[in-house]
This record gives sequence, structure tokens and C-alpha cells, in this order.
Amino acid sequence: MRLAIVVAWILFVCDAAPAAAAEAAAPLDSTYHDVATRLIGDALESDHAWLRLSQLCDGIGNRLSGSESLQRATRWAQEAMREDGLDRAWLQPVMVPHWVRGEERAEMVEPGPQRLEVLGLGRSVGTPQGGLTAEVVAVGSFAELDALPADAVRGKIVLYDVPFTHYGETVRYRSDGAKRAAVRGAVAVLLRSVGPVSLRTPHTGAMSAYNDSFPKIPAAAVPIEDAAMLHRLLDQGRRVRVHLEMGAKTLPDVLSHNVIGEIRGRERPDEVVVVGGHLDSWDVGQGAMDDGGGCVASMEVLRLFKQLGLRPRRTVRCVLWTNEENGLRGGAAYRDSLGDATSKHIAAIEIDGGVERPTGFGVSVRRAHSDSLDAPRQARALVQARQIGALLAGLGADQITAGGGGADISPLSREGVPSLGHRTIGEHYFDWHHTPADMMDKVDPVELRKNVAVLAVMVYVLADMPEPLGGAAAAPVATPLPTH
Ligand SMILES: [Zn+2]
Repeated sequence: MRLAIVVAWILFVCDAAPAAAAEAAAPLDSTYHDVATRLIGDALESDHAWLRLSQLCDGIGNRLSGSESLQRATRWAQEAMREDGLDRAWLQPVMVPHWVRGEERAEMVEPGPQRLEVLGLGRSVGTPQGGLTAEVVAVGSFAELDALPADAVRGKIVLYDVPFTHYGETVRYRSDGAKRAAVRGAVAVLLRSVGPVSLRTPHTGAMSAYNDSFPKIPAAAVPIEDAAMLHRLLDQGRRVRVHLEMGAKTLPDVLSHNVIGEIRGRERPDEVVVVGGHLDSWDVGQGAMDDGGGCVASMEVLRLFKQLGLRPRRTVRCVLWTNEENGLRGGAAYRDSLGDATSKHIAAIEIDGGVERPTGFGVSVRRAHSDSLDAPRQARALVQARQIGALLAGLGADQITAGGGGADISPLSREGVPSLGHRTIGEHYFDWHHTPADMMDKVDPVELRKNVAVLAVMVYVLADMPEPLGGAAAAPVATPLPTH
């Protein structure tokens, strides 16, 4: 054979061998069929997650960063993990922002008077003592705001009356609305709540940081109904004035904790699969869907493994992150605690979209420190995850799609850790999101059980399958030897 042909043949053999080996291995859905059946059976029979969610939501309540109730929830979760007999359950210290809402009220004083429902946005400053009163100007987009003449905005309250399209799109007005209005000289912002429907429920949520070059102006959400009323009056050429009082304050950072529990792997204990949600919530409602249900479902995965005497090949870790809602400090602290060991994290799953009927998972494998996907590992991970998904077909949760992750695991994703986002039908999640209505009655006990089952199977197989999700990460490029 000529040299070129020999080289080509060697390359072909080297390239083909691992693929052939992978083809020859039994698909994951047949290897793990029996254990999946046991996990699903136990999860669907148990009301343990539901009772635990009631302890958290009804017994402790909502859990804003810096609050005493978040501290109580942290201690409760660690104790629950110990009760479950996990190999370890510990608290990881994290300094978190401490924003407090204070008293709030708003009233349309002209025409009027008429009381408005209002909920300040997280991170907002308060109004001056006694509140502020100003004329309202309504806009439907940032482009409309920017097109207004200076005197139409200066000294006014800007009302962003932006219909909900999808969360990622509409939430920009909550994030950047105050900043953009301050640049134009506005004195406050009212935001049509970021949600598709309303029973006069305002939705809070975090704003991004203020622009230090401009005044920090207060911002609050109003329900869809209130935004519509103000906008109707303005469209009729009426002068509309609103009085707004907000006692919001940002106090010094306080100590909080991620709560972490684990079952050590039987063969590769240094390799870790993470599953979790965020324990903090907004200070209204109970944070039942966002994200009490996700936390409890994640805890239940490990409890089920212990109950069934299952110890997968790799370590399984449940992480309940703190401060997702107004800082993301918990996710950052968890990543930082790993130092250079992120490559030992085989996969991370976040459940933070509520616990309605589960439909499957989204999967992303990024190149470390890059915005692009690691295409070969992504393709391999999708094949593997779809085999696992086949075990969830009976639950209707076998949709495995490209693109997934979560806010708390995003620092891990950026290190190239394969990331999975748990998915549901999401029929009503944004109806209740960040509102006083996010109470436990919104959680269907049967759907909660299905979510536990789906997570348990996915986590078990990821932690036990011989080859890691996406295959081995590419070896770092070798440093050339010095030439002298
Ligand atoms: Zn959440």
C-alpha cells in the first residue's frame, strides 16, 4: 500500500473504532429498563414529595434572599436530606444581596382617585419619603420610548405597556425598563406585569443594575388590568397622574447557603451528576412552582435511590441553590467551590420551570469558555439522552431536544459541563410566576410525582451509564515541549 493509503486506512480505523464500539453497546433504554420501571413505580406511588412541599410552602412560606424564612428553609432542607440517609448533607456559605420591599402603594390621582395594584421590582430603590406624584406616559416598546421628544418623558412616570410574547422577550422591559427611562429623565417606571394572563395579579422579579451615570428611579409592576386602564385613558387624551410610594431598600449583603446532599458513587465517586433547583423565592406567594416543587423533586430523587438501595456508578448530588432570583450568587459560589474540578462534573440538571406535566429535557454541551456548542459531544449527548428519554415515553416525557440548561447551572455550562433543562408543558407557569398566586394549590400532586419519576430515571442513568454524557471531553491541547 502507498503511504497515503496506509495513513488514510489508519485514520479510518482509529476514527471508526470508538463509533463501532458505541454501536455495539446495548442502547441505554434496554440496559436500564428494569431499574427505570422500579423508580417510576415507586415515584408514582409516593406522596412524600407532596408532603415535603407542604412543609416548605405552608410551614415556612416564601424565601427571599436575606430573609429569616430562607434561613429556616435552608436548615429544614439539610435536616430532610439527613433524614433521607444521604451519605453527606452540608451547607455551602454564600454572601447574598439583601433587598427588602417595605411598604408599597399606588393610586391614580387624576382622573380618580383610584387605587392601583402594585408590586415593586426586586433591586429597585424606594420613592422619596411620602412618595412621588407625576404624570404618566405610556409606551409599547423601547423604540417608542426613544422616539418621544424629551419633554414628553422628563419628569414623568413611564408606563411600559408591553404585551407578553414569550418570557425571554418581554422580560427585557423588567430588566432594563428603569435604566432606559432614567436616561430620558423619567422619575419612575410602571411595568405591565410580565405574564400572559391576569386576575389582577402583579408579577415582581429582578431588574438589572442601575446605570450609575443616571438617577436611580423606582420601578414597580402593575397588573395587566391596571396597565390597560391607564393606557385607555391616555389614548383618550386624558391627563393621567399617579402617586407612587415604595419603601424598598438594599441592605448590606448577608450570609446564606447552598444546601447540598449526595450519594457517593460505587465505582467513580469523584465523577458527579448534579440535580437541583433554587431554594430562594420572591417574597410574595409561597414560591411553590418557582421553585419549591423543583427543589423537593430533586431531593426526592436521592431519597428514592436510598429507599431502593440503588447506588449508581458515579456520585449523585442534589444542590438547592440560594439567591437565584435576585443575584445568582448560589450558582456562582457552587461553581467556584469546584476550582479546577469542573471536568469531573459529568452532567448538571436544573428543574426551574415548575412541576406541571413533564415533557422531557433540553440538552446542551458547550465548549468550555466559549459561546458555541461542542458539536460532536452535543450530537453524542443527544443520542444518549434520547435513549434515556425512551424510558420516559410512558410518562409522555420523552421529548429530548437540543438546547437546555438553567440559570443556576449556567456557570457549569460555561465550563463545558453537559447541561440539561427539565421541561414541562408550561401551560400556566407564567400565569403565576413571581406573583402572590404562586401557592401550593397550583401544584397538581399527580404531576409532581411524574416529575420526580422523570428526574429519577434521567439522573440514575446519567450517573450509572458506562460512557459519560457526550462522551469524554476533548483532551486539552498539549503544550509543546521547550526546544532548548
Ligand atoms: Zn425560578
